[in-house]
Amino acid sequence: MAKTALITGITGQDGAYLAQLLLSRGYTVHGLLRRSASAEIIGERLRWLGILNDVQLIDGDLIDLSSCIRIMQTVKPDEVYNLAAQSFVAASFQQPLLTGTVTGLGAANMLEAVRIVCPQARFYQASSSEMFGKIQAQLQNERTPFYPRSPYAVAKLYAHWMTVNYRESFGMHASSGILFNHESPLRGIEFVTRKVTDGVARIKLGLARELKLGNLDATRDWGHARDYVQAMAAMLQQDTPDDYVIATGRTTSIRDFCHMAFSYAGLNWQDHVVTSADLLRPAEVDVLHGDPAKAKQALGWHAVTSLEDMVAEMVEADLARHRGRIAAPPPSLG
Ligand code: NDP
Ligand code: GDP
Repeated sequence: MAKTALITGITGQDGAYLAQLLLSRGYTVHGLLRRSASAEIIGERLRWLGILNDVQLIDGDLIDLSSCIRIMQTVKPDEVYNLAAQSFVAASFQQPLLTGTVTGLGAANMLEAVRIVCPQARFYQASSSEMFGKIQAQLQNERTPFYPRSPYAVAKLYAHWMTVNYRESFGMHASSGILFNHESPLRGIEFVTRKVTDGVARIKLGLARELKLGNLDATRDWGHARDYVQAMAAMLQQDTPDDYVIATGRTTSIRDFCHMAFSYAGLNWQDHVVTSADLLRPAEVDVLHGDPAKAKQALGWHAVTSLEDMVAEMVEADLARHRGRIAAPPPSLG
């Protein structure tokens, strides 16, 4: 029989790709949608993938336990993917309490709603490599101690341990994916990869001259979101719930990412990138470099898309978007 999935955060980058994957596998896909005065904009990623009309959106908010319970009663999901969060590290320093409420307690609300209404449902928690923060081992795996460096990472750590705790206390099929950074043309524009590819496109098309960034020395283990949602789904198909690091095993500096993206468009990054102390964070995560050996062995998962291919896809998508704007500016903006 066709399975039913509930995705929180369905309007975000990962939610959109995961919905696409599960639909392709014959799932009925429901997504939690928080109310907004700009509903037509919020479905933009799902529309871009051509699946907005194929998913069932249901109103609710992660911080409202009553809505989480009502949604479980209505949807009766076989699988729950908890992807909703205040997901931007820099914003978490400005809004630490909101981040704790949504990213931390929101996950507890979802776990409670599942435990109360549908304890047999399988549960996925979107944990993060940011939990490793000030890294305690050169390569980070499932046994590496955590050392969070931002309110976002602290909130994610709470959600992570609550997931482990519900698995151990109540026997729930609850798994946690410790995902390293993953990007795509659907990545939020405030994250550094997308900010760079968008900047490259603007500069290439003569819409801007420079791109202002913060710390260029940090390194990240960047993969493609389309690959990473495959790992989420694979975790919930295992007989036994568990936690997995999902990464490429390659780490690259922001500086080298700039070099790659600008070169792809025939530009020299040093002619355009300027740095600003305003964009430095109160505490930085200098290096993230994951060891995905367990996921490869247990899930048969590995990253397929190379960083070079992902950069090309992202720059091309941003060029196409800005070219569209240049070709046909709305009269009021022209
Ligand atoms: P996005 O920021 O793109 O999406 C976040 C989603 O959460 C959006 O759909 C947003 O809705 C929703 N949301 C925010 N607050 C609430 C709320 N109070 N109630 C209900 N929904 C809410 O994140 P990504 O897709 O990039 O990431 C998915 C998850 O994976 C997140 O939890 C993130 O922290 C985590 N993660 C991501 C990594 C990455 O590199 N992308 C790495 C590791 C973990 P709206 O559209 O209305 O804003
Ligand atoms: P994060 O790993 O979840 O914090 O993902 P980001 O893409 O937001 O940041 C990755 C790294 O890029 C961090 O070390 C940032 O300090 C660094 N960085 C440098 N300049 C910028 C910038 O202008 N914006 C963002 N978002 N990050 C930047």
